[in-house]
Amino acid sequence: MSKDVYIITGGSRGIGASICRKLAAPGRVIVVNYAGNEAAAAQTVAEIEAAGGTAVAVQGDVQNEADVLHLFAEADKLGRLAGLVNNAGVVDLSQRVDEMSLERLTRMFSINVIGAFLCAREAVKRMSTKHGGSGGVIVNLGSAASKIGSPGQYVDYAASKGAIDTMTVGLALEVADEGIRVNGVRPGIIDTDIHASGGIPDRVAQLQSRLPMKRAGSADEVADAILWLLSDQSSYTTGAILDVSGGRAILP
Ligand code: NAP
Repeated sequence: MSKDVYIITGGSRGIGASICRKLAAPGRVIVVNYAGNEAAAAQTVAEIEAAGGTAVAVQGDVQNEADVLHLFAEADKLGRLAGLVNNAGVVDLSQRVDEMSLERLTRMFSINVIGAFLCAREAVKRMSTKHGGSGGVIVNLGSAASKIGSPGQYVDYAASKGAIDTMTVGLALEVADEGIRVNGVRPGIIDTDIHASGGIPDRVAQLQSRLPMKRAGSADEVADAILWLLSDQSSYTTGAILDVSGGRAILP
């Protein structure tokens, strides 16, 4: 019997790696996508295999259409695409909007928004009953930043995640009767490398006391919510956006 394949973009580290580890199970193949950190991707694959699961690492920059096509072509060889998690995402150094270069803005929106669209497009082509598929699930990673706007830090990132929320709702309705569920998760402050890549390695420590639960979340806590959205336990949930933020930014 054909295996269920799950593509996790940015599965090499942080939240994505946790999703990959938790999702691995008999009958499933986890495609661990990564951009450049081959060692981290290999580590995630090794951890899954050590636990008896099946995983494959596939390099690919989600903003590059040829890379996305290659990623999905590799997944096609492994079985039936059952799920996609649009998890790959980047922040940038703290800047005001009046300082942001075109290069920065292009990178931000290319990876965080266009990358998610390209992957969603390829997933729908394979999953939709309209195209002869047998359904599937897509989960998109937004951010609490989309509600806060992140002034003085990265309004571009916050806006890119706002676009993801809108895409989640629109795509969910577009394919609701084609066997595909599309949902989003909006994490709050989660303890991963992303803060260091934005130039603030101690961001979690800085913000901790101001968070409702007085602590950051873990990658595993976000992954657990995503696992539920990927599972049949959420079979009547589509177009939903779940705040996994420990209470941060829960008001509209
Ligand atoms: P992270 O620890 O920085 O990991 C980022 C992952 O994305 C890595 O696996 C990285 O691959 C991959 N990646 C980056 N650019 C890519 C590209 N162009 N193509 C393919 N893969 C790419 O991030 P994280 O904290 O786990 O965040 C995961 C998602 O949650 C992101 O969408 C982020 O915006 C969102 N989020 C995070 C937080 C938080 O506080 N951590 C809060 C809200 C939302 P390499 O290992 O190869 O570099």
